[in-house]
Amino acid sequence: MTVDVEDYFQVSAFAGRVKREDWDTIPCRVERNMDVILQMFADHGVCATFFTLGWIAERYPDLIRRILAEGHELASHGFEHLRVSEQAPEAFRADVRRTKEILEDIGGVPVVGYRAASFSIGRESLWAFDVLAQEGYAYSSSVYPIRHDHYGMPEASRFAFHPCEHKDIVEVPISTLSLFDRNFPCGGGGYFRLLPYSYSRWALRRIGKRDGKPSVFFFHPWEIDPEQPRFDRIPVKTRFRHYINLGSMERRLRALLADFSWDRMDRVFLRPPQA
Ligand SMILES: [Zn+2]
Repeated sequence: MTVDVEDYFQVSAFAGRVKREDWDTIPCRVERNMDVILQMFADHGVCATFFTLGWIAERYPDLIRRILAEGHELASHGFEHLRVSEQAPEAFRADVRRTKEILEDIGGVPVVGYRAASFSIGRESLWAFDVLAQEGYAYSSSVYPIRHDHYGMPEASRFAFHPCEHKDIVEVPISTLSLFDRNFPCGGGGYFRLLPYSYSRWALRRIGKRDGKPSVFFFHPWEIDPEQPRFDRIPVKTRFRHYINLGSMERRLRALLADFSWDRMDRVFLRPPQA
């Protein structure tokens, strides 16, 4: 179970509407929403991985310490939600190094997991895995093997794989359902709020039974927040994807937490050193 810790105005789909230099002037909702999420996980006895922006960690250090105190894994979502494809390799290296340092300084624990903004490691940016491995990351969860207009690498493996020859980093893709030679999303995103919950439950059960593999699911703090301030001048498709069924998300997530057993990424996908 994973959460990408960013606020409602930091999503890539709004990047053309909300400038990064204005972020500090916009009211944050992330603390309030994280209260709800941490309570929900505590109620269901679930530990999760929180891929957190360096920008959020710098402003809300107590939130970082709370995530760790409650037994969750702290991981990196980069500093300010730049897509990998928007960065040159050396800028990317500086970003993942800086974010790891910020998170480790505040949390006092090693950070070994990384998720790219908008699943933006694609076939043009496979070099990013080498950089992550060199910077001390043990795993990435940055590929969604589906066809999508903003992200996705449909030809990638559906399950954990070694993207580099030296095998010191593992990529753990977001879960997909394989049907009629195509991969369909079932690990989070707008579809989870759009389609009936029974589709998600069926798809995730099928992965466990047919593929015999654990699933990776993601969501964001803003997805449980129907009261978030709304932006005007947003394209219709973006608006639909962002705002659809926010009010039913907490109920759906609670069902998901109850119907499956979940844990932190490092515990599920990284072998202990002796193994
Ligand atoms: Zn994100």
